[in-house]
Amino acid sequence: MQKQIETELNAIFESQVKILEDLVKIPSISFEGFDPSNIKKCADAVFELFKENNFDEVRFLGKQTNPAVFAELKGNPNLPSVLLYAHYDVQPPMRENLWLSPAFEPQVRDGRLYGRGTADDKAAIVVHLAAALIAKKMLGEDCPAIKFLIEGEEECGSPNITALLKECKNLKSSVAIICDSSNWNEVTPAIVSSLRGMVALEIEVKSMEKPLHSGTWSGPIPDVAQGLSHILASLKLPKAPPLAKNILESFTEMSKSYGYKELKKEGSLLNKTQILVKEKDILKSLWRDATITVTAMEAGSRKNAGNVLQNSAWARVSIRIPPGMDIKKVLEQIKKQIKDACPWGLNLSIKTESGMATPWETKTEHIFFKKMLNALKEGYGKKPLITGCGASIPMVAAISKAFKGMPVLLTGIGDPKANAHGENESVSLAVLKKAILSEILFLHSISSHHARTN
Ligand SMILES: [Zn+2]
Repeated sequence: MQKQIETELNAIFESQVKILEDLVKIPSISFEGFDPSNIKKCADAVFELFKENNFDEVRFLGKQTNPAVFAELKGNPNLPSVLLYAHYDVQPPMRENLWLSPAFEPQVRDGRLYGRGTADDKAAIVVHLAAALIAKKMLGEDCPAIKFLIEGEEECGSPNITALLKECKNLKSSVAIICDSSNWNEVTPAIVSSLRGMVALEIEVKSMEKPLHSGTWSGPIPDVAQGLSHILASLKLPKAPPLAKNILESFTEMSKSYGYKELKKEGSLLNKTQILVKEKDILKSLWRDATITVTAMEAGSRKNAGNVLQNSAWARVSIRIPPGMDIKKVLEQIKKQIKDACPWGLNLSIKTESGMATPWETKTEHIFFKKMLNALKEGYGKKPLITGCGASIPMVAAISKAFKGMPVLLTGIGDPKANAHGENESVSLAVLKKAILSEILFLHSISSHHARTN
């Protein structure tokens, strides 16, 4: 069967790359200040792709939003249905002078297609489309129903995703594949099993109505900057819950090729900067530990620094929470710690930013997760790794939440060279082909055809 699939795929692969190139040519940047007509143009292009390929249903979703495209290939109703997600909007090109070829003029160099949106996330549109078309052709009556959601504002945080998901009940499927992440490298596929949640706080302490001369007044009066530093240094997060065996095994495997040296290089750390966790725990720490980071601080200003006893000090703190921890509970604990630690009767205010992101994880013991691991193994010819992600992707949690009980598989076509969001973004064409092949194998694995022939 795999040979047959590969033959079909080889026959259409070049045309799929052409589709990707055409999509990349549209600068569909969803940020404010960029021409919104390109968003419309790209949404129309995606819409047309499904129409041309005779999908049973194709329509726009999102009344006030950048349009999303919903499409469906009806399939055997006795089989599990599959929802395929990707997004057509892209990041701005950033520093255009650093691009070796213009961001919106796709170019192939050394087996990689360069251009803004190649990896994030327009290649995923092609992966889903090609996989669905070949699966339909080969499986016929035994093809599962395949639905598409192609979003247009993921890069600006999917602000309307919850409303959008409510608009179309038919989006609910037996399983969803979100292809918007990264493989471990160009040869080893990966599936992301978790995202950390996030909540941010602003902390301000005040001592007096106005700043004073530090020479005249320091001594009896508390220094707010030291008071705030004391609070920040005292904050402690609870320990993250233990990891499942298969996830630990995967992290251990990856740790063999990702240690202090790699972290220092990737993070551009200075020579003597210490790493705060054991070498074997780096990935766990990045993906599965709770962390607290002071993202900005202010007491006076560097520009106007002088001999001043400041009257107020401010900091913004971002807290990352792994799956298995209750973000609201942690937030309350941290607020209490801040209050308890606040010294010298300083006037304290704590403001929680809106836009809390809950942590996310998918059940790795789920049958669809196992089927995907298997499909990736066959498609890439290499055992896939189970990775995590330290950041939050609002859309993933929103889709999981909107359709409770629908398992979500977070796959990707990116790799460490992809440089999504940066200059010279690219996708490996070899990986593109393997990603399509894997997705067809996944669809095949849930078809009744598969059940019969095995
Ligand atoms: Zn993306």
